[in-house]
Amino acid sequence: RSNYTVMSAVRSESPSTCPVLTKFQRDCATPKPFLRKVADAISDDMRAGLAVQGGGDLDMILTFVDALPSGKEEGLFYALDLGGTNFRVRSVELGGKEKRVVAAESEQLSIPHELMIGTSEQLFGFIASKLADFVAKEKPGQFPLEQGRKREIGFTFSFPVYQTSIDSGTLIKWTKGFHVSGMEGKNVVACLNEAMEAHGLDMRVSALVNDGVGTLAGARYWDEDVMVGVILGTGTNACYVEQKSAIPKLQNKSSSGTTVINTEWGGFSKILPRTIFDQEMDKESLNPGEHLYEKMISGMYLGEIVRRVLLQMCKTSDLFGQFVPVKLSSPFALRTEDLCKMQEDNTDDLMSVGSFLYNFLEVEANLKARRRVVEVCDTVVKRGGRLAGAGIVAILEKIENETKRMASGQRTVVAIDGALYEKYPQYRRYMQDSLVELLGHDLASHVVIKHTKDVSGLGAALLAATNSIY
Ligand code: BGC
Ligand code: MG
Repeated sequence: RSNYTVMSAVRSESPSTCPVLTKFQRDCATPKPFLRKVADAISDDMRAGLAVQGGGDLDMILTFVDALPSGKEEGLFYALDLGGTNFRVRSVELGGKEKRVVAAESEQLSIPHELMIGTSEQLFGFIASKLADFVAKEKPGQFPLEQGRKREIGFTFSFPVYQTSIDSGTLIKWTKGFHVSGMEGKNVVACLNEAMEAHGLDMRVSALVNDGVGTLAGARYWDEDVMVGVILGTGTNACYVEQKSAIPKLQNKSSSGTTVINTEWGGFSKILPRTIFDQEMDKESLNPGEHLYEKMISGMYLGEIVRRVLLQMCKTSDLFGQFVPVKLSSPFALRTEDLCKMQEDNTDDLMSVGSFLYNFLEVEANLKARRRVVEVCDTVVKRGGRLAGAGIVAILEKIENETKRMASGQRTVVAIDGALYEKYPQYRRYMQDSLVELLGHDLASHVVIKHTKDVSGLGAALLAATNSIY
């Protein structure tokens, strides 16, 4: 307690004299009562989306994944993973309950930027050609196939898809800076099939899954208590296990058991503390008005928000004297990983912040300026992490409401993947703090947050196995 008083006294001795920063910090504040409202509003939209399609901001997509991996899966399966930044191909040999993953091969490439904004033929042609290269590297006879049997693929497609079955679905819209023409409303699997045919590949997609679903499935393979799969990377999403009886929009009303819901929580938009910087970034984005929550909490955007604030501070609050660095006017020039690097600097004089700013902006920033830059980073990352925590709380409370699992002492695991979560310790801590703040220590003590790196490909392969047509 006394420590805290001393610290805040020191702080109030040097009040921030930068009006842009002061206002920004005020606008970004996420005190507990406010976060509680956010969590409740997300829960409300979850319920509304489960009631009718389009009932709330969250799509609450039915994934047709009624059975999660059990460990018994066997055979050779492939996984394709089109994320926000990377593309991966892999093969997985599953050996059943005892042996589990017998062998796995994988390759990763970053997605060329022109493919993100090109045509669907170009994008799927790229995917199919990389898959063809991958398969061509297998030794002849390495994976013998039974007569008439095709190799099966689990396809992780990290965008909102309206699923029509486990192996088909139409793209609702692009996110994360993708804007491939001629795709919206089209069957994603049909696009891939056409491209595979053109490349002479006789393979079959047996499961089309979101990366959140893949993460949930892959993590569940190793741990039966995994109930939620969260992605905090370039974009964000959460998928979770829901009771069918709690889904009014399900066609088959009498169904019992559970199914996986892809929330597409990035689309949440209510009561968010959106500043002028958020609004302007959104307006200039490829998907204005959409995925507003994603734009406040995911890796693609945190650096860009900071850039916009710093630019304003240069122009109106003399952040670097009269100097306005050219680079600061370039959209997305400042990346979220740069913020992280700056926040890693815990020296008194912020030397590495200084050298980063020097290299990046060609400016010799004095200590006051360096401190301010770090404060902007921290403000954006804190808001993002805490809002993400509120989202996870909304999902955990929904699960708890249906199942009372935590109240009965059972552990509930949230599997998280994505570079933002993996590589940004402050973000992780803010997220974790808000989770405990909102859930309370009792419930939170039954929650395990697990970083499950790169399991979505395994998850997709497992779901291809579960849904094999042979
Ligand atoms: C997409 C989701 C995806 C998430 C994480 C979002 O932009 O809408 O479908 O799961 O990014 O990759
Ligand atoms: Mg990914």
